[in-house]
Formats: sequence, structure tokens, C-alpha cells
Amino acid sequence: MEIQEIVAKQKDFFKTQQTKNIKFRKMYLEKLKDLIIKNENLLYEAIHKDFGKSAFDTFTTEISFILNDIDFYLKNLKSLSKPKKVSTNLVNQIGTSRILSEPLGNVLVIGAWNYPYQLSISPVVAALAAGNCCILKPSEIAENTMKIMAEIINTNFPPEYLYVYEGGVDETTVILKQKFDKIFFTGSTKVGKIVYQAAAENLTPVTLELGGKSPAIITKDADFEVAAKRIVWGKFLNAGQTCVAPDYLLVEESIQEQFLELLRKYIKEFNYLPDSDHYTRIINERNFDRLIKMINKDKIYFGGNWDREKLYIEPTVLTDVNWNDAVMQEEIFGPILPVISFTNYNIVLNEILEHEKPLAAYLFTNNSEEKDNFKNKLSFGGGCINDVIMHLGNDNLPFGGVGNSGIGNYHGKFGFDTFSHQKSILEKATWGEPNMKYPPYSDKKLSW
Ligand code: NAD
Repeated sequence: MEIQEIVAKQKDFFKTQQTKNIKFRKMYLEKLKDLIIKNENLLYEAIHKDFGKSAFDTFTTEISFILNDIDFYLKNLKSLSKPKKVSTNLVNQIGTSRILSEPLGNVLVIGAWNYPYQLSISPVVAALAAGNCCILKPSEIAENTMKIMAEIINTNFPPEYLYVYEGGVDETTVILKQKFDKIFFTGSTKVGKIVYQAAAENLTPVTLELGGKSPAIITKDADFEVAAKRIVWGKFLNAGQTCVAPDYLLVEESIQEQFLELLRKYIKEFNYLPDSDHYTRIINERNFDRLIKMINKDKIYFGGNWDREKLYIEPTVLTDVNWNDAVMQEEIFGPILPVISFTNYNIVLNEILEHEKPLAAYLFTNNSEEKDNFKNKLSFGGGCINDVIMHLGNDNLPFGGVGNSGIGNYHGKFGFDTFSHQKSILEKATWGEPNMKYPPYSDKKLSW
């Protein structure tokens, strides 16, 4: 089916008002949940073919997230959709004021390849929960996961309600010429700008979930064992191909040697070897070649080996790095961890402030003044103190970027709001009218 036809069908279907019915929404959310559970093994096979991601990693970082999202909406849909009564000011008496969350209409979700299921299906779940019709365009870079999502969804959902459109840049360019009521995009800042421009043509609102260089700071007041263990896990999860992975470390000079030893210890302990099935591969040769160029052989503290045929890059820690090095000029998005040392905590915060606002930031310390400065001085999408990545796992927290790392957010209630319009309704009694509102006006009325 042509994309124009699907968009037209979705617009017509939305007008039937069926998607506004809570039972209808729940029925299809249940259906999606059943399909994911029933096809779990096919989903694992496809992602393994794309970049060697293990079933364990796929369940913990993708499938469980989606199932949790669906359960959240099944449980909370009624209260989220309920009109919210708010107080009414004096001038609007006698009346009642309510906010109604209404679905936006036909929406487009564009996914990224690095968590191909979660980043495609989680926004779709929020869009359907909020009562929209939806077209999903997953990333063609993870081809097998794109195909399996299309197969499962397109054979089980009416296309006028939910449809997976397969394609790359050319197809996405055509899709972006259509008129949507919302575009939800996950991907690079560069493509985010293309999407934003296309959306502007139709005044379509956007949520842009983008990337950036997310720092992790480790001060002398940190618990080093915990910090090293959590950083190694978060950096090399998905072979560093995680939008909120710590991109680089800022380590207080006096503890650097001790801390680097701990990084080495945990990298070894976690066994990220070429034959480890829990260590994900690089998605393709293009990204592999881009990453290899970032490894300055003179600065390798640990690792630095690779195998292009297997698309394997060993966890690699670089030391003596400075802000001008090639590895510090773009988001790494791979298993390379540069370490910059610092002597003054406040100066290092100012250095972060000199750069684009990151999607995430992390601080490891037990010093409350350092914690306060981190929270209050820096601007970033979201982050953790004494952990990495895990803020994503709490759906009471909004997830999204700021500045170059994105616009808008989702997860839990925030996902529902992202795909809804907040409609204000003031309902007046037909009595109790203040006559001063109507002309003719007089000074007497002004002195009220
Ligand atoms: P990408 O921007 O290359 O691609 C994302 C999507 O855009 C894909 O579906 C692709 O088909 C489409 N696309 C690519 N070029 C296009 C063009 N010229 N016109 C229209 N559409 C186009 O990003 P990616 O490589 O899939 O993902 C990596 C980036 O995404 C990283 O920067 C990462 O930080 C970011 N990311 C952000 C989040 C988040 O939640 N904020 C999550 C994952 C990845």
C-alpha cells in the first residue's frame, strides 16, 4: 500500500471516533502484548541477526520495557483519560473548569536501530493509549527487526489504525511530506533537524529524542567500586550503542589511577570477549570504521583490539584525553571510553557547560555540595547520581533531552501527554451573570 493511502485511511478512521473509546484502546494494547509474548523468540532471533544482541539483553532492555509500558497504560488508562477538574476563578463564576486529554489524531513514529524494539514500540504504545492512529517507521539499519515488527503488526492490526512502514531515507523523505498530527522521532541530532523542518511545513508538533555526549563525573568522594562496576556495565551494554551511555568520564586526578584499575577489573570480570554471546556487535561496517578511527593508539589504557569480520570492538579505555581530541568531537556510540582527568570540580562543571546540553549526565560522589552543584548548575535531559542509565527504568520520570539532545519527553504519564492535546473546557451556568461585562460601559462599572 502507498503511504499516501495509509495516511488517508488513518485520517478517516480517526474521524469515526472509535479510537477514543477506552475499551477499544485496551483491547488493542492487550492484543499487542499477546503478540509480543507469542512471538518473543522470533523477536530475539531477528535482533541477534542484526547485531548479535543476546536474548537476555533484549528481554531486559527492550521487551520487558514494552510489556511494562503496556501494563502501565492498561492499569492507568481510565484515570489518565478522565477529565481533570480544576478550580474556577471569580470572574468565571458560576462555572466549572475541566481539562480534557484528547488524542491528537494520526501520528508518525520514527525509530532508531540501537534498541529497535523499545524505541519503536514504546512510543507506539503511548500513542495508541492516548487514542491515536499510528504509522511506525522503524530504522532500516536494523533490517531484520524492522521486518519482523512489520510482519507481526501488519498481519494483526487494521492498517487504518496501526501500520508499520518499512523503508530507509528515501521512503522516510516521502512519509515526511504527508500531514501528521504529531511526529515522534528518535535518532541523531542531524536527522532530527530534517524532521523538524519537514514538520514545520504543516505546523506539526514534534517530539525529538536525540543524542549527544553524556558525561560521567567521578570525584574523590565517590564509592569507587560501585562507580566502576556501574559505569562498566552501562558503557558496554549494547557495545556502547546506547543513547544514554556515559560517553566519556571526568575523573578527579588524585584518584585516577585507582579508578582506572577498577575499570580494568570489571571489564575483565564481565568477560566481553569476541566469543561472548552477551556482548553485542557493532551494527555495521560503516559504524565500525567510524569507531576505529576514534581510537588513538597512543592513548589506549585498556583494550584497543578489534575484528572487522565479526564487527567486534573490545571495550577500550583511553587516557590522557583532552577536550580537543577527535574522540571528544562527536557522540561515540560504541565501546570506547575516553577518560579526562580534572583537579577542580567547579571548573569541570563549567567545561561541560561550554558544550551542547547532553541527553544524560552522571555524577559519582557522596559529597552533598557536589551533588547540589551537579543538579543545579548543569543542564541535561536526565541523569543519575551514583548510577548510570537506570533513570530510564522509572516511568514516573519523564525521559527526553534538552537543547541539542531533544525536544519533549515520554514514558508513563508523560508519554500519554506527549500524544494528547490538553483541551480546556469552561462550562457556565446560565444564571448568576455579572452585568458589568456588557456594554454600555460607564465609570461606575470601572470603580467596581
Ligand atoms: P539516525 O538519525 O541516522 O536515524 C533515525 C531514523 O531516521 C531512522 O529511522 C532513519 O531511517 C531515519 N533517517 C535517517 N536519515 C534520514 C534522512 N536524511 N531523512 C529522513 N529520515 C532519515 O539515527 P540512528 O543512527 O538510528 O541512531 C543513532 C542516534 O540516535 C544517536 O545519536 C543516538 O544518541 C540517538 N538516539 C537517541 C535516543 C533517545 O531516546 N534520545 C535513543 C536512541 C538513539
